[in-house]
Amino acid sequence: MNSSELLSRLVAFDTTSRRSNLELIDFVRNLLDDHGIPSRLVPSVDGTRANLYATIGPADHGGVMLSGHTDVVPTLGQDWHSDPWSLKTDDTRHYGRGSCDMKGFIASVLAALPAMTAASLGLPIHLAFSYDEEIGCVGARRLVEAMRDFGVRPRIGLIGEPTGMNLVLGHKGKRAYRVTISGLSCHSAYITSGVNAVEYAAELIAFIRAMNRRMVEQNQLDENYSVPHSTFHVGHIEGGTALNIVPNACHFEFEIRNLPRQALETLAHEVRHFADRRLLPEMRERHPQSDIRFDELSDYPGLHTDPASLVADFARQVNPAAQFADPVSFGTEAGLFNEIGIDCLVCGPGSIDQAHKPDEFVARGQLERCDRMIESLVAQCRRFDDIEAASA
Ligand SMILES: [Zn+2]
Repeated sequence: MNSSELLSRLVAFDTTSRRSNLELIDFVRNLLDDHGIPSRLVPSVDGTRANLYATIGPADHGGVMLSGHTDVVPTLGQDWHSDPWSLKTDDTRHYGRGSCDMKGFIASVLAALPAMTAASLGLPIHLAFSYDEEIGCVGARRLVEAMRDFGVRPRIGLIGEPTGMNLVLGHKGKRAYRVTISGLSCHSAYITSGVNAVEYAAELIAFIRAMNRRMVEQNQLDENYSVPHSTFHVGHIEGGTALNIVPNACHFEFEIRNLPRQALETLAHEVRHFADRRLLPEMRERHPQSDIRFDELSDYPGLHTDPASLVADFARQVNPAAQFADPVSFGTEAGLFNEIGIDCLVCGPGSIDQAHKPDEFVARGQLERCDRMIESLVAQCRRFDDIEAASA
């Protein structure tokens, strides 16, 4: 099957995040089996979803990893002009949910399986397909943990998120929290007997907002980003029942998006420190059971790859028409793979402008460009048995 036929098969699986992706994974697994390629699964805790990992070529070498997520964002409430789960192709575009983000890339990779197995590869090609990327890189996190025990790891990785086939070397990291504030209720005429959870939430939110202002003022700017500083943002809050009751509960959600050179941990620590040292003692003086709890909702590191790195050289070799693009605002799994020593960059067909939207599409020309990149990557992996030489 060529890449557009494969894309049509992949789009037909409704792999909306949090739903099972096992039917798609089975399909890919059978395809790999047909080519005599063994694969392994790294399942989710409840077993309803899985990451798939496979190696083609010598397993005792580093080589190149091609990585993509199998999940897609929901179509609920979107006004589509065709069935999102049935690929529709016209003269220039393939329409369907996930066509650009990012089943197009996976289709291109799978279309090259015959070439990969026919070539006797000196450098291995590793396939890493994850689940639940769109809700915070959930699957890749488990995959990366499992890969610590896989023996030889890929040396470099290409993450096929839509970049218009350009080479993206950087993006911000992100961590999201749900904060639950527990105080003490009482009649609002006697507020000194209670602990007002909504007001303590407001103080904490004001601190978070001040942190955001500080990022701008500290001149920690990177003008390559469209928002050139790390950001703090509160997106949801709930608390209180009636004006004449001091509220005992409030919760809100906030996120931090950091420039890769600012440590996410340090930024998050400042917020927790303020809650623990400034707010909590005061709350507990009045009511010892008061609490401020932080639950992490999602977390992925930023990416900052050197343009002079091996992976950048290699990507230029196999995709010579590509430009180096500015860092992107969206996150990817690249930073997670980076943490276990796999140098990554982001390059894939389609534009992020079409991702997550109704009538999502990938241009046919983009998919063809990706096919050509994978073809030349296979050729490069046939010629060399060492990534240094292949990137030179
Ligand atoms: Zn994506």
